[in-house]
Amino acid sequence: MLKGVVASAVLLLVVVLVVRTVHLSRRPPQTSECKPTDSDFIPLNDERLQRFQKAISFESVSRDDGDSNSDEMFRYGEFIIASFPHIHRHSPLVTWERVNNLSLLYHVQGSDPSLRPYLLMAHTDVVPVTNLDQWNAPPFSGEVKDGFIYGRGTIDDKNNVMGILEATEFMLASKIRPQRSFYVALGHDEEIRGYQGAGLVAKRLAEKGVKEFEFIVDEGMAVFEGIIDGVSSPVASVGVSEKGMIVVKLSVEMPPGHSSMPPKETPITVLANAVKRLADNPQPSMLGYGVETDMFESLVPEVLDYDRAVIGDPRVKMEVIQAMEPHPVAGYRDTDFGYQVTIMVGNTDTIHYLNFTGDVYRFSPTHMFPGDPERFHGINERMSVKNYEQVINFFYHLIRNADQAGLSPAHSTHSDL
Ligand SMILES: [Zn+2]
Repeated sequence: MLKGVVASAVLLLVVVLVVRTVHLSRRPPQTSECKPTDSDFIPLNDERLQRFQKAISFESVSRDDGDSNSDEMFRYGEFIIASFPHIHRHSPLVTWERVNNLSLLYHVQGSDPSLRPYLLMAHTDVVPVTNLDQWNAPPFSGEVKDGFIYGRGTIDDKNNVMGILEATEFMLASKIRPQRSFYVALGHDEEIRGYQGAGLVAKRLAEKGVKEFEFIVDEGMAVFEGIIDGVSSPVASVGVSEKGMIVVKLSVEMPPGHSSMPPKETPITVLANAVKRLADNPQPSMLGYGVETDMFESLVPEVLDYDRAVIGDPRVKMEVIQAMEPHPVAGYRDTDFGYQVTIMVGNTDTIHYLNFTGDVYRFSPTHMFPGDPERFHGINERMSVKNYEQVINFFYHLIRNADQAGLSPAHSTHSDL
C-alpha cells in the first residue's frame, strides 16, 4: 500500500569527527610520594566515607526526555550545603551561590590577587540505572563490599564532587589560606549536555567579571593499570582536548512503487548500503595533526567530503544537524601537569567554559583496571575505598600546588597515584 507516498528513508548518524592525537611519553621519575603519614594527609575516616555514601544515595538522575529528578538534585545540594560548614558558613574566604537552583558555584578568595584563578569542575547528576538485577549492591546504596563503594556516581562524578569539597573543607578547617583564588563549579545536568547547569554557571561567571582562568580541571581520563597495551605500571592519562562531533542526517527519496512489484532498489536498500560503506570505512584518525599546533579551522567539510566519497551515491543526501569542533588543546609541557597526554572520548561540560581558558585538563584520579571502563554509565559502577581517599588527597594537593609556579617536589599532585 505504498501508492502515492514518496518513499523515503532517513537516518541520523553520529560521526566522530576527529581524534587529535595521542602522545605517549615517559615522565621523569617521581620526586617523592604523598604518604598517609604526611601531616597534611586527609584520611578517609568514617565521617568522610559516610558523606560519600550519602551522596551516592541521592537519585540525582538526568534524563534526556526532560524527566530529570530535580527534587533529588535539590536535596543533594542541600545535603552538600549542610555537610561542609566551613565552606558554606564559617570561612570568610568563600562566597557561594546556587545557579539555576540546582547547580552550585563557589569562589575561594586567595591572598594574592595577582595570580590568575583556576576552576575545578564536577557534576552532581548521574545517568539512569539499567540492569538492576546484575548489580552486586543497590545502585543508590553506596554500600561497601570487598573494599569497594558501589553505586551510580562513584566514578562519574560524585567522587570528584565530594573529593573537591572534602579537600576544600579540610583546607579551610586547617586555617590554610591559598594564595591563588579558585572557583568550583558543580553542574547538575552534565549528562544531558549541561545547558541548564554549566552553561548558566559560565554566564554567571562572566556576569561576575571573571574573564580568564589559569587552567580548568574537569572529569575525563583516569589512571589506567593493565589497560594500555605493553604498559604494566599505572598510567595517569590527562585529556588535553576533546573530540569534535558531528550529527549527519542521511536521506534518500525515490519514486513511489507498489510492494507487489518491488523495484530492484528501494530507499531503504540505498540507505542501508550507504551505512554499510560508512561502517566499513571509518573516518581516518588525524593522529599527529593537532596537539603541536593551535590550528582549529573547521574540520566539518573535510569529514563530510570523506563520507560523501565513501558512500559514492548521489541519491544519498547529507545534512549536518549538529556539529562541534574539537576543543583547543591544553598545554602539556613538563611544567604543566606531567601526565601522559591523551585525548578524551566523551564530551563533557567543559565546552561551556572554553572562553575562559585554553588549558583544560580532563582527569579524574580514578584507578581503572581491566573491566572497569565499562562501569562508566554501566553496571556495578564502583570505586575502591582506598581510591576515594586518593581522590580527596589528589584535589587537596592540586589546590596546594596551584599556589606554586611549578610543581612542588615535596608534593607533586600525582605521586600518590
Ligand atoms: Zn561525568
